[in-house]
Amino acid sequence: MHEMGITQGILAAAFDAAEEAGATRISEIRITVGELTEIQTFALDFAFESLTPGTMAEGAKLVVTELSPRSHCRDCGLTYDHDRFEMICPDCQSFNVELLQGRELRIDSIETDDAPSGDATPEASASDAPAEE
Ligand SMILES: [Zn+2]
Repeated sequence: MHEMGITQGILAAAFDAAEEAGATRISEIRITVGELTEIQTFALDFAFESLTPGTMAEGAKLVVTELSPRSHCRDCGLTYDHDRFEMICPDCQSFNVELLQGRELRIDSIETDDAPSGDATPEASASDAPAEE
């Protein structure tokens, strides 16, 4: 599964960033994924859930922002959102268009929790966290 490798890459980058910041725990990772990457959000969630136990990101939340494709028409100057299959300009039907967004795959932010050591912090249950949106 494609998403497994992507999630491993995201986690590796997050671990590096957290270690550099001197953090011991990651509480949230926010990423942006363009629809044209064809990455499935549910598969990312699945990979995240299976890769994080036993790491500093155990119990962390993965927040994915999906970006729909957007293009700019070089002929009439229109900027428009479209789906994965229909790139042509809706105004003048031109194929002379430039993709502006939709292929992103980036980490927006990594939130770390620095629990004071020696103090047993009870684990909050994250199993019934409300879904966003
Ligand atoms: Zn056009």
